Amino acid sequence: MAGAVDGQMGGARRRLVELLRDKGIRDLAVLRAFDLTPRHAFVPTGLRHRAYEDSSLPIGSGQTISQPSIHARYLELLGLKGHERVLEVGTGSGYQTVLLSHLVAQVFTIERIASLFSMARDAINRAGATNVSMLMGDGTVGWREYAPYDAILVSAGGPGVPPALIEQLTDGGRLLIPVGTREEQTLKLIAKHGESHVVSDVAPVRFVPLFGTQGWEQH
Ligand code: SAM
Repeated sequence: MAGAVDGQMGGARRRLVELLRDKGIRDLAVLRAFDLTPRHAFVPTGLRHRAYEDSSLPIGSGQTISQPSIHARYLELLGLKGHERVLEVGTGSGYQTVLLSHLVAQVFTIERIASLFSMARDAINRAGATNVSMLMGDGTVGWREYAPYDAILVSAGGPGVPPALIEQLTDGGRLLIPVGTREEQTLKLIAKHGESHVVSDVAPVRFVPLFGTQGWEQH
């Protein structure tokens, strides 16, 4: 049965890849990762028919799987070559985690909500990704044990850039994080050079809040 569903979804997935190309995504490795990753396996069953729309969808606990073109933009901006060790803050459904698993050597991912963590773990295993390490906890403090990381992607919007994440970048490493209010943010790209770092504004974005020690306080 799962095979039949996967078959029906294959055409929709290829159309999504075409759409991403039309929206200006040029990195072939990123487009290939979208072609290899079954987004319908990361959304609630009742929303599977919408899995290949370019829209964010609810995944439970008030959280969302982000819009595919936002994921694609994030991944393209990092210019990944394949050898990197990457930290993802905000596993959510695990979809971007699996996209990353096709693009880098090792993915470390952190999610703070227990129910999402376990659903994502199952979906990531079913997708066959073997280069993913998962932690349940507060990603605003990073994952010191395996630092430094060549790239860090934060999938939720914070009031500022958590210093722990900059500390845990390699020299030459890059951090992508939405920063602003709880409602709207600017996507920031931070490039670390030795002891200093350069911050560039990429685009206005809207992400769910980044809660935690170095994020928003949860009331
Ligand atoms: N990229 C994900 C996907 O493909 O499904 C979507 C991520 S969703 C927009 C943001 C996630 O960040 C939510 O699951 C939320 O629980 C998580 N989150 C928020 N604050 C966090 C924190 N301090 N540490 C870890 N995860 C956090």
